[in-house]
Amino acid sequence: EKIQLVPYCEKLIQPFIRSTQRMIMISSSAESISCYTDPPKLEQLLRILIDNAIKYSENEIHICIQKQKNIISITIKDEGVGIPADDLPHVFERFYRIDKSRHRATGGSGLGLSIAKSIAKSLRGTITVESIFGKGTNVQVNLPSIL
Ligand code: ATP
Repeated sequence: EKIQLVPYCEKLIQPFIRSTQRMIMISSSAESISCYTDPPKLEQLLRILIDNAIKYSENEIHICIQKQKNIISITIKDEGVGIPADDLPHVFERFYRIDKSRHRATGGSGLGLSIAKSIAKSLRGTITVESIFGKGTNVQVNLPSIL
């Protein structure tokens, strides 16, 4: 199914903004970026990443949508607690959580990112994470724009 990514993401973030009162901004490299994808799957994937960005940061969250050739990238950027370099290679593993006591209040299971990765794969895409501990995290999803 063909979707317009900017309005699609605008719609997706509204419930998050309403329920958390957080600032979530969307920017894009072009006015209109379309993508052939499975919209419910993409929604499930982006919800996991936005949930994490909200849980592990307190400032504004930015979602950047770009298209280069036939690759769409959607990057969720936060300025939160960040991920220690030693933990970074493991965050996509099932049940992996960093410093359990630190995050006890947020009550995660450590499954979110492993599910996100398998969804990205099922959409023939990839997911990567860049983070600086104490500064923030960028999670980038790359998807083919055509099926
Ligand atoms: P849930 O299954 O509810 O999402 P979770 O957040 O613990 O629980 P994952 O989404 O798999 O599980 O994330 C794994 C770990 O990676 C988290 O415990 C957290 O320590 C770290 N992490 C994930 N996203 C971020 C982020 N945006 N900023 C900082 N740390 C993060």
